[in-house]
Amino acid sequence: MENGKCNGGATAKLPEIKFTKLFINGQFLDAASGKTFETIDPRNGEVIAKIAAGDKEDVDLAVNAARHAFDHGPWPRMTGFERARIINKYTDLIQQNIEELAALDAVDGGKLFQVGKMNDIPAAAGHFRYYAGAADKIHGETLRMTRPSLFGYTLKEPIGVVGHIIPWNFPSIMFAMKVAPALAAGCTMVVKPAEQTPLSALFYAHLSKEAGFPDGVINVVTGFGSTAGAAIASHMDIDKVSFTGSTDVGRKIMQAAATSNLKKVSLELGGKSPLLIFDDADVNKAAELALLGCFYNKGEICVASSRVFVQEAIYDKVVAKMVEKVKDWTVGDPFDSTSRQGPQVDKKQHEKVLSYIEHGKNEGATLLTGGNAIGDKGYYIEPTIFADVTEDMKIYKEEIFGPVMSLMKFKTIEEGIKCANNTKYGLAAGIVSQNVDVINTVSRSIKAGVIWVNCYFAFDLDSPYGGYKMSGNCRESGMDALDSYLQVKSIAMPLHNSPWM
Ligand code: NAD
Repeated sequence: MENGKCNGGATAKLPEIKFTKLFINGQFLDAASGKTFETIDPRNGEVIAKIAAGDKEDVDLAVNAARHAFDHGPWPRMTGFERARIINKYTDLIQQNIEELAALDAVDGGKLFQVGKMNDIPAAAGHFRYYAGAADKIHGETLRMTRPSLFGYTLKEPIGVVGHIIPWNFPSIMFAMKVAPALAAGCTMVVKPAEQTPLSALFYAHLSKEAGFPDGVINVVTGFGSTAGAAIASHMDIDKVSFTGSTDVGRKIMQAAATSNLKKVSLELGGKSPLLIFDDADVNKAAELALLGCFYNKGEICVASSRVFVQEAIYDKVVAKMVEKVKDWTVGDPFDSTSRQGPQVDKKQHEKVLSYIEHGKNEGATLLTGGNAIGDKGYYIEPTIFADVTEDMKIYKEEIFGPVMSLMKFKTIEEGIKCANNTKYGLAAGIVSQNVDVINTVSRSIKAGVIWVNCYFAFDLDSPYGGYKMSGNCRESGMDALDSYLQVKSIAMPLHNSPWM
């Protein structure tokens, strides 16, 4: 291949597949229809396992279990302190099973085993630990009422039964990001993992039983979006749906909620995030950040810096540095510790990314590096950089969700800001500069929910994360996420003979 290196065999152990059935009310069950679907190893296109294909009937069963656990079970009624004890035990179990969980995400989603082991699974455990710490600190307020004859206060109560619908690109982190704050709030839930990556969610379900959650608190229904997912979105007995995925499906989720029971809807959607490199930037660092921002997790990341804008004075130097550095961006087996990029998640995604690359070529962008599939087995693609991309091109406008970078030049700060905001999305943005005034002006002018300055992917458990514009309507992580699983109740009562207002 012309860029990147393709490495050889695997070095870590493949996981044993122990759980393939739906997890409802504390039991692993076949789908009511008896149907299954195949989950595929993207390294070679081979079937890993047959997984229960849940549908409406199974979602009904899971929602009934969650409803019963919420209305009559101990979970929402126990003290936050007691909930924290169980969530902490769950965290311990996740930490004891890091390698197995990382291996499941690697074989199912083509994610790098080492990154899973060092980042994704510890981050998933971190979410549970963080929200365990918050579970006993949920409280309302005493109100200073405008009418002196009234005493008022608020309670924060769990929203109820939650449906979580998650994507395939970060199966473990997405599971934890949604389940952990909902648990801390006292909600019960039905989780639908993506059909491409169901394996780790079923393992998390198994660990939940061991941790001691009451039956029905966590249910996992594997299956397809148009069946199991749609049944969750339109269910009359689900109080909130929390969705992460594409903007198109997000719109359907909102429609289904609107035409069913007006359930609350949280959406974390797509992105086309800009990275702005200003002319005072360190060229080497800027090039590294651009490659990381666009190619990390094989570009299958909603916040990927897929549009890179470089100020004209250093444009040529940054481009040359990126083209030099991408040669070391090794594409290969996700179990090989020298790989920096594994295969795309499945055949469909592989074809979709390659078709965007063809569009880029046909629309007149300059292909600087990459542009091809790798090998005849599995779903590998070269890290690909296009220069001279213009705003009317498909690769500029649409989320590709693969290792494809669009590179553009800008002159002034104002032009850089305008370019960054020239998208229907608003998830994240990066700024590379040493100038505090530039950083402050640009970070306040970009319409995105997350801004990373001289870094990229600087996620933190305490830092709320979510989109402006068509990238979503909520925040995950931090205390904002916990709040999204709570509702406020105002209580007022007459105040008689009080010495105080
Ligand atoms: P997708 O929208 O196709 O699927 C996401 C989930 O929704 C899956 O579980 C799928 O089965 C389900 N689904 C599909 N159709 C459905 C329907 N009609 N009703 C109910 N559920 C349905 O997205 P994807 O391809 O799995 O993931 C990629 C997308 O997710 C990208 O657009 C990416 O940007 C986005 N994403 C966003 C974030 C974020 O935090 N904003 C994080 C990760 C991924």
